[in-house]
Amino acid sequence: MSDTITVEALHRLVAGWLGEGRAVIGPVNLSPKICRYRPLSNPEEVVLGPFIRPRNSVKEFFFPQHEELFRYRTTGQTIQLEEASTDIPPFVVLAARPCDAAALPMLDHVFAEEDPDPTYIARRNAGVVVTLACAEHDRDCFCTVMHFGPDSEAGSDAMLVTRSDGAFEVRSFTEKGAALFAGQTESREAMPLKIADKMVEGYTVEQIREFMENNFEHPVWETVSAPCLGCGACAYTCPTCHCFDIVDEGNAAGGARVRNWDSCQFCMFTAHASGHNPRSTQPNRQRQRLQHKFRMFPDKFGTSLCTGCGNCTHNCPVGLGVLTSLREISRATGTQSPENKT
Ligand code: SF4
Ligand code: SF4
Repeated sequence: MSDTITVEALHRLVAGWLGEGRAVIGPVNLSPKICRYRPLSNPEEVVLGPFIRPRNSVKEFFFPQHEELFRYRTTGQTIQLEEASTDIPPFVVLAARPCDAAALPMLDHVFAEEDPDPTYIARRNAGVVVTLACAEHDRDCFCTVMHFGPDSEAGSDAMLVTRSDGAFEVRSFTEKGAALFAGQTESREAMPLKIADKMVEGYTVEQIREFMENNFEHPVWETVSAPCLGCGACAYTCPTCHCFDIVDEGNAAGGARVRNWDSCQFCMFTAHASGHNPRSTQPNRQRQRLQHKFRMFPDKFGTSLCTGCGNCTHNCPVGLGVLTSLREISRATGTQSPENKT
């Protein structure tokens, strides 16, 4: 037997959450080719298809692209500071990809453990993450290389898995997830589930890490980065990239100190006030992105900074991103390439 919810019952449940004023964020088709995570205006617009690839990631609902840290106001010689509110209303993220949710424990290392950030922690506490197991995958997916999978539970409070009768099996992993669906499911006979196949075989994150450790200096970094435009789309659509810049917006009388997303792919990212830039070329910057994800972050936190979601390749205007880079590295070094079976 399995805890089950039909599509109709799920829609009714979402209508109830919306009715009580709770924000529900989910994938929404904005056009035939563009899907984005955004707050739902009605239950029916959430996409519950076999495979979704929103253009953004769920990280922006926990780590916003633009965020006020505090406001300031000057009166004569006095400066008044007003802290940002940590009063975040409860919200639900529904039908997130498991590879999006898997990024949240990685972000927790940075924003909740190493140097706790009150608004990030408030958002994590306020949000419940319900993932939708992928029934299919596309050619840019490689989550299984990263030891995740189409129904990986990392970062999920609960998960919906599509059954062969069209309803969803509901799996709860945390108290928050269980509470969300308490009394809302029915016990039905278990039946086959629609879960995507393993998409890349014979290639592991351990191989990637070994290359990064032994080849900080390697001519392949030049060829890998040759097409890169330095646009930052890879980082902005990546669920794990979390670089930011802090600036003051305002004038002498008042304003706000704000945190904006940044990217190691931007040419000004490491520019010093002296004019010196230690990463002055795009090859340096591409190497940094991969070295950080597969060597530096694991050295510090014991986990890679990549879930294998494929967004960086899918959204890159010149088809680069991690997966393409790994293939280029494999070609250059004569090692096995991570070829996707799709
Ligand atoms: S790898 Fe692609 S998405 Fe990333 S900065 Fe370069 S061109 Fe832009
Ligand atoms: S580096 Fe690329 S594949 Fe890895 S999590 Fe970020 S966007 Fe996804």
